[in-house]
Amino acid sequence: MRDFTLSIYIKLLKTMQDAGYTAQTFQDFLQNPLPKAVILRHDVDRTPKNALAFAQAESKMGLQASYYFRIVPVTFKPDIIKEIAALGHEIGYHYEDMDLCRGEIQCAHKSFTENLARLRELVSVNTICMHGSPLSKWDNKVLWKYFNYHDLSIVGEPYFDVDYHKVFYLSDTGRKWNNIGASIRDKVDTGFDINVDSSFHMIDLFKEGMLPDQIMINSHPHRWHNGYLRWFGEFTQQGIKNIVKRHIIRING
Ligand SMILES: [Zn+2]
Repeated sequence: MRDFTLSIYIKLLKTMQDAGYTAQTFQDFLQNPLPKAVILRHDVDRTPKNALAFAQAESKMGLQASYYFRIVPVTFKPDIIKEIAALGHEIGYHYEDMDLCRGEIQCAHKSFTENLARLRELVSVNTICMHGSPLSKWDNKVLWKYFNYHDLSIVGEPYFDVDYHKVFYLSDTGRKWNNIGASIRDKVDTGFDINVDSSFHMIDLFKEGMLPDQIMINSHPHRWHNGYLRWFGEFTQQGIKNIVKRHIIRING
């Protein structure tokens, strides 16, 4: 059976619910963390239609998630953003303003402020999350060495406002769960040593009660497909990307 399909994702959510976890948006978790919670975070890097399919599936199951949208034309689709918000999900800004401004801090701050305002014209936005392009030399989080996002009425950023010694972080970066070798920017200082080999394995771990009480699952809907051809395309493409990323990690030490 293939992994990283929408059907497997739905099965994962069902198992999570059966195991007694409540799904919380990131904002909700920051303001009112439940003792047994999963933050369903989605970084919408491209193919926003896939994000909409995820949002509809979650909403049918009575679940709320957080969707972080990039401002670039390939993902900034106002109709889809508003539709996902109308389903009860949280929308956040997946910022990459340091990349857009080639590392110029003042430009990046202006760009961030303007882009946040563009998103806020559509929906209310209270949390943000950096986009980590593996091939970029800029770290978008560096902006916050010079500025404070709370000044823009932002309540949180997952890379700064979560204690990952308490919250178990799982990311599908590289189309594997917590694939350290393929992850350049999407890393947290974790307090857990739990291997998750596949979504099937995660389902088993939920069933066996082997996962911590608070979890953040970061999944990128564009990496998950139900159609076989597109799934295969993503599979081979991601395989090549992982090889390239491993080389970058080796070069950077
Ligand atoms: Zn991203």
